[in-house]
Amino acid sequence: MVTLEKIAHLASDCRFDSLGPDAQMDSEKLSMLGGGTRHDVCASTFSPRSPGLPGICHSFTQDGRCVSLFKTLYTNYCSHQCNYCTNAANCSQKTRAFTYTPQELAGITLSLYQGNYIEGLFLSSGSGRNEDVVMEKIVETARLLREKHAFAGYIHLKVLPGASRSHIQEAMELADRVSINLEASSPAHMNEMSATKNYETDIIQRQRYIRDLMSKTDRKASLPAGQTTQLVVGAGAESDMEIFKRILYEYREIGVKRAYYSAFSPQRGTPFESRAPQQKWREHRLYQMDWLYRIYHFQPQEIHHAFDENGFLGNADPKMAIARQSMDSPADPNVASYSELLRIPGIGPRSAQRIIALRKMHPIKGKTELAQMGVRIKRAAPFLKINGWRDSTLLMWSA
Ligand code: SF4
Repeated sequence: MVTLEKIAHLASDCRFDSLGPDAQMDSEKLSMLGGGTRHDVCASTFSPRSPGLPGICHSFTQDGRCVSLFKTLYTNYCSHQCNYCTNAANCSQKTRAFTYTPQELAGITLSLYQGNYIEGLFLSSGSGRNEDVVMEKIVETARLLREKHAFAGYIHLKVLPGASRSHIQEAMELADRVSINLEASSPAHMNEMSATKNYETDIIQRQRYIRDLMSKTDRKASLPAGQTTQLVVGAGAESDMEIFKRILYEYREIGVKRAYYSAFSPQRGTPFESRAPQQKWREHRLYQMDWLYRIYHFQPQEIHHAFDENGFLGNADPKMAIARQSMDSPADPNVASYSELLRIPGIGPRSAQRIIALRKMHPIKGKTELAQMGVRIKRAAPFLKINGWRDSTLLMWSA
């Protein structure tokens, strides 16, 4: 892991002359602008290489490659009043405001890239006094990298709430991925979290711009890694079911590639500082639910089985909860379809494909063979029946 100190050293050392006379970089600025991205997620909690620390983060490209990114804010100054954010105008313990110049930021990124420390840039920002002025600087940074320095690395740019369509288009022409944070699942929950952001016009409308600019009719920007979004979980009173409904809209109507979930943690000086932190497991269960919809192609009505009567997932594997409620009888891996196999806990897409390939050659005889194909037998056994065999130690089917 490359630390902020190391990044500061590289920048001030200026062994890459591209930084030019603006190279004097203090580590406080790097630290504040790097640390200011703590709520911006670029990989899910499933990612083994996501340390959750400022500086360098890891993300996955459209072709599934894990890449190291320099993750920073452009500025930590923001005129919005989001009740959970230390950059917000209503935070009583505001730190000094720092801002890069496009030249500085392009230079540091280039330095780290040429030194093989990173493969790209993840650039977020406060909105400054005017989101369009900051968007212009964000775009200028990306333009310097792409056009002046022929930077071939990965670029993820955050679109600021309320940014103009023309700035969004420019960002999309230069980036691999753009995203705008939803933060909340509805206008009412957004009002609880921020007095200044309009959910519909500042966020959803901007997501529609991105969708339309990528559409077959407009084709204004190819944006290879698409648009993503992110929610803060547990800052407001919204249920997991409300989040799920919003996410369905995001995948189906907006066409987001991925949704990310970030468990709320209270920060000193913010209006929400005395609220309880959200346990990490909730974030994890939301990712599992998301995975069932996006990768396993579970129907929304099947996923509903995972929620309790108050609309929460609880700290249990949602796939197991769904299987318990919706599987009428154990499945035989020798005859079950791909989609039926995927619904068995402990069987994922890869093991389901292996099962189907193997049984074309000969019938599957038992647990050992399944385990060799990557099936997690302990989880799968109560839901399986193989050549008349069933796991007699688990009584769920006779209950
Ligand atoms: S828009 Fe809200 S969450 Fe984003 S930096 Fe500004 S105050 Fe923080």
